[in-house]
Amino acid sequence: MTAPDGATAGTVLVLNCGSSSIKFQLIHPDTAESVAHGLIERIGEPEGRIVFHHTTGTEESLGPIADHRAGLRVVLDMVEGLGRSLHEAGIVAVGHRLVHGGGLFYAPTLIDDAVVHAVAELSALAPLHNPANVIGMEVARAVLPDIPHVGVFDTAFFHDLPAAAATYAIDREIAAAHGIRRYGFHGTSHEYVSRRAAQFLGREYSDLDQIVFHLGNGASAAAIAGGHPIDTSMGLTPLEGLAMGTRCGDVDPGVLMHLKRSAGMDVEAIDDMLNHSSGLKGLCGVNDFRALHRLVGEGSADAKLAYDVYVHRIRKYLGAYMIELGGVDVIVFTGGVGENNADVRWDALAGLERFGIAVDRVANKAHESGERCISTPESEVRVLVIPTNEELAIARAADALAKSLSC
Ligand code: ADP
Repeated sequence: MTAPDGATAGTVLVLNCGSSSIKFQLIHPDTAESVAHGLIERIGEPEGRIVFHHTTGTEESLGPIADHRAGLRVVLDMVEGLGRSLHEAGIVAVGHRLVHGGGLFYAPTLIDDAVVHAVAELSALAPLHNPANVIGMEVARAVLPDIPHVGVFDTAFFHDLPAAAATYAIDREIAAAHGIRRYGFHGTSHEYVSRRAAQFLGREYSDLDQIVFHLGNGASAAAIAGGHPIDTSMGLTPLEGLAMGTRCGDVDPGVLMHLKRSAGMDVEAIDDMLNHSSGLKGLCGVNDFRALHRLVGEGSADAKLAYDVYVHRIRKYLGAYMIELGGVDVIVFTGGVGENNADVRWDALAGLERFGIAVDRVANKAHESGERCISTPESEVRVLVIPTNEELAIARAADALAKSLSC
């Protein structure tokens, strides 16, 4: 699986350590060319899975992966297997996708011991993600100590949300003592696709009011006024907002107390249910949209309701954000569902012609995969599909910071 000689020179290694998976990509920040990428999943389970795509093929294997340290070792061995030792490969930086930066981090950050410590301290706010992020930083820094490691935080783009959008109406002293505010997530994706949208339209980023729907397994919406986010649907944690694959999105907080008092569920059980067996999965048993459509086709009333709840929530946020922005120029869909599911896009925007939003049925259905406009020529609001590329955004941020250090 040797890559062409020198193919890894000048690349950034992007690491995304999730709760039970590690995604990685070796990418040229200038050209966006990906030399290799892969996924280690089901870490800690009896049978883990490793997939590695590189310029000359794809390899897949199954077997136990004890923990994130073991998983990262596999990643680094695979990168080394491309031809040169890690130290000779010419990797210029490692970009770490970090989930929760709390109130501390709002820009790409050079990782040192203090940053690792601070991210670990923030684990209470993201117990599934930050501990895995910390291990990713520790192992990668130990193996590649001589190149800059840069943290890019999912929360950073939303750091300056207006206070009215960032504040929960709860006891202010308790909120302050426990860091309770709305932080927002998927920020790297929202920023990337909204900037791309402006470029696609040949317009200044600062001239456009945009609403972005990032619809993947996790899902969030963002209202972006002239390049500045003014609201987003995720909050203290990535649980708030839209209905998702397995996460509930908005629920009355009273539901939690009711579950404790009446159903006898403890905090761990409630947390697990809201994160892992709610959303589409909770409503119809599957979280993958392709499976959901199959069930709808077979006449499942549960799947139909799950779909309707999903779309209803999108429309609710769309309406709210149109008013918050005082009108919208561009609506963008991204993420696995947003990029590929024409039905969701159509139903989310159906019947909104009086608000200047008209989706072109043929353009929406066309089997295309790149950046594209799906609104009619008459539509005042441009509706775009922009594939997200968080890895490229992270690689570019890491490369820029690394270059600034060497200046
Ligand atoms: P993640 O949040 O894990 O990165 P993705 O952005 O990959 O998730 O989105 C996963 C979702 O996208 C799944 O519900 C999946 O069914 C849906 N999806 C991916 N590809 C397609 C496709 N070609 N057609 C319809 N849905 C798709």
